[in-house]
Amino acid sequence: MEKGNTALKKGIGKRIKSFIMAAAVAFSALGPVSSTAEARSVSGETIRFNDSRTITDYKYSDISYNYAKLLQYSLYLYDANMCGTNVGNRSLLSWRGNCHTYDKAKYTLKSGKTIDVDVTGGFHDAGDHVKFGITEAYSAMVLEMSYYTDKAAYEAAGQTGHMKTIADHYAEYLKKCMVLNDDGRIEAFVVQVGEGNDDHNTYWGAPEKQPQSSGRKIYFADAKGNYSTDIVALSAAALALHYLNYKDTSSLTAARKLFTFAKNNPKAVNTTAGSFYASSGWEDDYCLAAAILYQITGTESYNTEYNKYCNTTKGNNIYWALSWDNTAPVIAYFKNDAGKLKSSADVAGSHISNEGYVCLLDWGSARYNTALQYVGLLYDKVSKTSTYRNTEEAQMKFLLGNNSQKQCFVVGYNAYSPQYPHHEAASGYGFSELDQGTYPMKYSLIGALVGGPKSDGTYADTADDYIYNEVAIDYNATLVASAAAIYSGHIGESGQTVDSKYYKDNSDPEPEKLYDVRKMTYKGVTGWYYAPEGKVIPTFNGFASNKSGWWYLENGKVSFKVTDVIHGKVKGKTGWWYVKDSKVQFVDTVAKNSKGWWYIKKGMIDLTYTGLAKNENGWWRIVKGKVNFNCRGLVKHGDDWWYVRDGKVDFTFEGISSNSYGKWYCKGGKVQFGFSGKVKFNGKTYTIKDGKVV
Ligand SMILES: [Zn+2]
Repeated sequence: MEKGNTALKKGIGKRIKSFIMAAAVAFSALGPVSSTAEARSVSGETIRFNDSRTITDYKYSDISYNYAKLLQYSLYLYDANMCGTNVGNRSLLSWRGNCHTYDKAKYTLKSGKTIDVDVTGGFHDAGDHVKFGITEAYSAMVLEMSYYTDKAAYEAAGQTGHMKTIADHYAEYLKKCMVLNDDGRIEAFVVQVGEGNDDHNTYWGAPEKQPQSSGRKIYFADAKGNYSTDIVALSAAALALHYLNYKDTSSLTAARKLFTFAKNNPKAVNTTAGSFYASSGWEDDYCLAAAILYQITGTESYNTEYNKYCNTTKGNNIYWALSWDNTAPVIAYFKNDAGKLKSSADVAGSHISNEGYVCLLDWGSARYNTALQYVGLLYDKVSKTSTYRNTEEAQMKFLLGNNSQKQCFVVGYNAYSPQYPHHEAASGYGFSELDQGTYPMKYSLIGALVGGPKSDGTYADTADDYIYNEVAIDYNATLVASAAAIYSGHIGESGQTVDSKYYKDNSDPEPEKLYDVRKMTYKGVTGWYYAPEGKVIPTFNGFASNKSGWWYLENGKVSFKVTDVIHGKVKGKTGWWYVKDSKVQFVDTVAKNSKGWWYIKKGMIDLTYTGLAKNENGWWRIVKGKVNFNCRGLVKHGDDWWYVRDGKVDFTFEGISSNSYGKWYCKGGKVQFGFSGKVKFNGKTYTIKDGKVV
């Protein structure tokens, strides 16, 4: 289809959302009413730009636009989504480790020889863990493009090392996907690992613990079928750019082999991704690879291939945004064609929504918004003008909170950032993705761009909404690219500085000697010890902290084995603290110690709470902070009454239960206030009116 109408990322209706007991989300013009947002502005100043677009500037005094920090943070999504056998060493996030180390298969070559194919590595696609070839290649290509076009920004922000780690991880994976025969030619290419529906439906949890049985299949493109010209060619383009950036000749060799493979096979788009990523054409990707390889090598055959398809509808789709389904704007950059870049950038002008925000499509609108920002800024580079600089920067400011609802769409960027991005690894909990809502997430998904608002301005910060709040490697790729391009125009200005708590080239990590809990060797054993003055105190029992958090120590040492609710002082507050694997967990849950099960609020027992509360095992009846296992009957929670048996909500209960107001008809564990009629239980017929037995 034209104009990327197929570009909706995932089939609507694939996953049914559940609102059972989810916290109520009150929608306003742009998003839920959030307690963090203070003064929102109802009026602002309208600004008009060169391209005749306008936007409202709310001039919030407590939102700063620090593009060095934005670039620094935005790279971290790739640490969160990193996959393979070396994540533990490479990822800058302490909560990520090696995963999917079983991503391996066998492939039988034309010669009859069967070889082992190891496709560990790469990056998880989004909040889930599938590795789709099209977004692997696209995000790698965009990140490499960004470094290629805005290297000065990376150098000024001290992000060259971080970028190289990510770029290398991509390049290594794309090369691993190549199945070579004895002559060194490609016979097959892995275009997908994992299956979209299986991955979503069978598992929600840490990637490190995902079982291979949850649909972790491996899909090949080869001469026999599933040609996937789009993925093969876009992977070639990404590797060619990796060579341009890092002079890695093995990447150039790989790119040339991949292009030859695409050229010699019949040409067709990938189909294994199904409705998740149904590509509308391969010609753009093929032309992009040909254009870059021609620029690098000067070999005429690349130009010949380029000319065959460069004027096809899909090979020249300059009237749409850059996306995984349309790389034509990047071709225009390599052909130095300012006119085509302008055509793409000006797509924004006909998709102006609420308050001047550019919204091409409702699903993941922020990804198209940042992609158009980058295309506008590419135009400026090619034309050597500043035509789009201010208007694209204004769009980025909108995404950072300069909107009437003061809602930022980048996690961790400021006080108005999303709290509940749709992301399995960061969630840190194991229950169904259908039941997340606003359950506290264990880890911060720093720098992740969420889906963003719809064209009518609505947005909800809730983890079970994958339209507003999913994150993805393709979303962040254009966030990174636009952040770097915008920062290029602000290098050296005051307020444009990276956060010292996060990665910076050549900076020493924060010295451990500042912390009470340090990694040391004591009596021949290396571990984490309580050593506030640099000397281990083996008599210490209690809580102490370091950069990673608060720890419970026994005999001066972190055992990483204590899971309990323990009395002590944490962050200056004395109380009973929830400890898991020896670390204080600042979450809301229900947890146990030897005296019973307790309601935990932000890590500490809350003895004032009476009601229902949730942990990974279910919903529990809490009386003055403690689970009452003797409770049986109806308990009010929000607007509903729930049936509790032995202290736990029984969602399977159907029948009659009573309280001081009378007898009530329950189904699914809940009083059915909407029901009137007759029901039969235990041989007896009851007449029900509005849920009540009459
Ligand atoms: Zn993985």
